[in-house]
Amino acid sequence: MPMLSRVKNADSTYRGALETALNHALTHLTSLDQSSVATTAGCLSLRDQIARPLEKQGVSAEQVIRELAHDVAGGLLGSAGGRFFAWVIGGSLPAALAADWLTSAWDQNAVLAATAPAAALVEEIAGAWLKDVLGLPADASFSFVTGCQMAHATCLAAARHALLAQRGWNVEEQGLFGAPPIRVLTSIARHAAFERAVRLVGLGRSQIVYLSADDRDFLRADSLQDALAAEPTSPAIVLLQAGDINIGAFDDFPALIPIARRYRAWVHVDGAFGLWAAASPRYQHLVRGVELANSWATDGHKLLNVPFDCGYAFVSDTKAHSGSMAQQASYLTQNGDARDPMDWTPEWSRRARGFPTYAALRQLGREGVTALVGRVCAHAHALATRIGSLPGAQLLWEPVFNQGLVRFLDPQRGASDTDHDRHTDQVIAAVNGTGEAFFSGTTWHGRRAMRISVCNWQTSKEDVERSVNVVAEVLRESKPDSVSAKAKGRISEKTRP
Ligand SMILES: *Cc1c(COP(=O)(O)O)cnc(C)c1O
Repeated sequence: MPMLSRVKNADSTYRGALETALNHALTHLTSLDQSSVATTAGCLSLRDQIARPLEKQGVSAEQVIRELAHDVAGGLLGSAGGRFFAWVIGGSLPAALAADWLTSAWDQNAVLAATAPAAALVEEIAGAWLKDVLGLPADASFSFVTGCQMAHATCLAAARHALLAQRGWNVEEQGLFGAPPIRVLTSIARHAAFERAVRLVGLGRSQIVYLSADDRDFLRADSLQDALAAEPTSPAIVLLQAGDINIGAFDDFPALIPIARRYRAWVHVDGAFGLWAAASPRYQHLVRGVELANSWATDGHKLLNVPFDCGYAFVSDTKAHSGSMAQQASYLTQNGDARDPMDWTPEWSRRARGFPTYAALRQLGREGVTALVGRVCAHAHALATRIGSLPGAQLLWEPVFNQGLVRFLDPQRGASDTDHDRHTDQVIAAVNGTGEAFFSGTTWHGRRAMRISVCNWQTSKEDVERSVNVVAEVLRESKPDSVSAKAKGRISEKTRP
């Protein structure tokens, strides 16, 4: 390990490793179009490939990076590219990616304005831009966290603070033991990340009351009204959805939020990707009235195409937000001239995650964000409707935003629903096995379906074309009596993700 003992911070200390990383990054990103979207190595062989004993003596930084890139070959999902449609995962805009690298190079601890003044200010500015683009109240407080789940946890902590303070209970001082129980009202079509946030802030899963939704997965106003009226004075948090995970369902905010208000309930919105509808005149109607809520959680690493990890929490009651998070310690230097990020986040030391968001928003500009939202939604619509009209396919959900569902029908005569379920999973596995495109499966209203989620800035018309074609090819191969050995092999090799 000769480098470290040489001239400190000389160009040569870093150049080898950073240039090797740059070259590998460029190779990875520019070959996504030609390489398999699915991984090509299984975990067992990958482990053999990756596992090295930790040597007694270190090796050069450049060698570490070169060998790391070599060892992980075949184990990287092509989710940074344009034909990955599973699990609502975005890519990285070039400016966001580069700013993310700089974030590591600058290595600022964005805990206080004193420890990272530029980072604190960039976060301040990016936070204001986000509220503007998302149509949220300009005076709402915000925090940059690791993802939507932690944004939920942050908002729930603020909700807990406010609801209990109204009842004379200081939750930060007294904790939750003996506090009035807080009910959490939501519908069944909810992302599991919310449930974990409920657990993390100590509200307890059994406090969640699942209300009924209609056949489009909208929380029903009458069920919300009845649930609140059943315990009119007990504290309640109402979780509404701006874009649910399966079909991108948006709750009816103008109808539901006033009901919650009547009972002084706190309304929190899960808008991991759907909150971005606000940025597009074409899709804005989906989030009409959402600004009336008390808190909102969304992601930077999905639709905005910022690298992981990046989520945002927004809270209208800024006192409840800082009341739940702010921390004073004698050795901290709070700087009155700028916002201290740690007063708004659950973390202490933290990455300066404002930089990549700032960069993504600047690269896109307002019109770029609008165009991005429009593009992913148009591609999702084209994919779902075109795949859904292929022989052997059935469109279960035509996208209203960027999410669609398709089911594949078992062509055997007399096939049952269970057969269609199995067949759907087999077709998904076979498509993924080709490496041409990648989708995930889901269960929606009791039936298996292929979920089509478009979230990546790179997805193009050509990607849509290639993806429709590969599904068509797999369906042709899976006709009864004509299941080719190739397709069969693919199917049995792959398991559901
Ligand atoms: C992705 C997602 C989440 C979880 O967000 P993370 O960024 O993974 O923590 C929550 N809700 C919805 C609707 C999502 O799509």
